[in-house]
Amino acid sequence: MKNTADIVVIGGGPAGMATALEASKNGASVLLLEADTLLGGNAARSTGYLAFQGFEMQHREGLDDNAEIFFKDMVNEIKRQEETYGIEFDAELAKVFAKESATTYDWLVELGFEFNRFLPRPLQHSVNRMVDVTDTSMFTKVFSDVLKKNDVDVRTSTRARRLLLEESQIVGVQTDNGSFRANMGVVLAAGGYQANSSLRKKYQPEHMATTPYLGTHHDVGDGHIMGQEVGGELINMTMIPPLIMVGSALVEDSIAVNTLGRRFHDEAGPYDYRVKELNKQPNKTAHYIYDNQTYLKKRQLIDEMPQTPSSANSLTELAQIIESDYKALKETVTQWNDFLTSSEEKDPDFGRVILPAERRAIIEPPYFASKMITGINFPAGGFRVNADLQVLNVYGEPIPKLFAVGDCSGGLGPVIGMGGMRITPALTLGRVVGRKIATQKFECSPNSERLDEYIPSNTMKVPVIDD
Ligand SMILES: Cc1cc2nc3c(=O)[nH]c(=O)nc-3n(C[C@H](O)[C@H](O)[C@H](O)COP(=O)(O)OP(=O)(O)OC[C@H]3O[C@@H](n4cnc5c(N)ncnc54)[C@H](O)[C@@H]3O)c2cc1C
Repeated sequence: MKNTADIVVIGGGPAGMATALEASKNGASVLLLEADTLLGGNAARSTGYLAFQGFEMQHREGLDDNAEIFFKDMVNEIKRQEETYGIEFDAELAKVFAKESATTYDWLVELGFEFNRFLPRPLQHSVNRMVDVTDTSMFTKVFSDVLKKNDVDVRTSTRARRLLLEESQIVGVQTDNGSFRANMGVVLAAGGYQANSSLRKKYQPEHMATTPYLGTHHDVGDGHIMGQEVGGELINMTMIPPLIMVGSALVEDSIAVNTLGRRFHDEAGPYDYRVKELNKQPNKTAHYIYDNQTYLKKRQLIDEMPQTPSSANSLTELAQIIESDYKALKETVTQWNDFLTSSEEKDPDFGRVILPAERRAIIEPPYFASKMITGINFPAGGFRVNADLQVLNVYGEPIPKLFAVGDCSGGLGPVIGMGGMRITPALTLGRVVGRKIATQKFECSPNSERLDEYIPSNTMKVPVIDD
């Protein structure tokens, strides 16, 4: 087995797989290193919501969308989040992503992916553009096959540990299974740092740093640490938004009830809103209620939740187990089922518009209750990169032959609350960087681009402190 390639990619999630495939299709030899036993990363464990603009499903519905509208929606989301977090939004990268997202849809369809339906999120996506893949295990199966067919040398169970540096250039990667050399570049695509509570503690208050996270245990910030050692600048690291630990596809089929047996919010509303609403409930306690059909269909997502669900053959029994008002719970479920059999498009109580596929009611025993538990969403933080996805140092200069994409890059991270905005950027910008490295067609200047941002300003506002 050869331990040298044109490009070495660290991480076999959507970002790394797209990078490797596109680089190989453009003539480069590629080594893909994956710490886990299988490819797919968090995309294979996800709900599979993806957001694109100007794609075939929108055309079919006569929906008017384009890169500018998509970009504006991102800017609006940033404005909303800026009230809570200090954010560095990379508008340039966002524009590249918005433009290229349309072709990512076609690219996935060509690979064999299929999509179910639009999931409306009118507060975040002004046009219907978020859709769900029919089967997230395709991120493992389809990509494993296609990468093999395209001669990508995939090394699973291989954890990268350090970048190799010679004469200020990145020349390879040291792993637990030996070293690998890269002639054209190394791509950091090792996901986020959610699974590393000691790293999170650097950026989060202690009581939050140990809260649960969703997904793979391999995302321990290795990419962030390796890139930091060679001078990469990390941005948006403190934006690790709280989130109710539940896959969105399970929420589609569920309602949430408090201890009074009542619904209290739009279950599919913005992630931060859901956390705020839960915190207003008696004892801050509530449960997602769903039935057996959902349990059987969405088992993978249910198993990923921090607590196993309670179940019972009747709603009365279930209410007793979760210490909720049984009469009210039965009434609430009946009301929800009645709404689903009506022709109303919006839930009259909380304005919810994401409904179960085919408006399936909660009817088949046993019934299940999963506790709403607050943990963290995906961290927004990662490397500052330029539009060629080159990792920049603190002076805004590219580190020769080092690239970052997906959850390892930070400039697009803060739009996470929109929904469908992690996997599509990972795939899209992965395709972009794979192509750029393989063809050596870069657009950005090798010189410092952002140095002026670091000149201290004497116009900074000084907060006024009252005596
Ligand atoms: C339950 C759940 C639901 C989600 N739902 C959605 C959704 O609907 N829509 C959406 O857009 N996003 C969703 N996400 C988030 C999304 O899956 C991730 O943000 C996305 O997969 C990031 O892609 P990535 O390739 O950058 O990283 P990842 O998918 O995290 O992949 C990183 C890969 O790198 C590997 N790795 C880590 N360290 C090393 C190392 N040192 N050496 C080698 N390999 C390493 C990991 O094992 C992993 O395979 C969800 C995630 C989860 C868990």
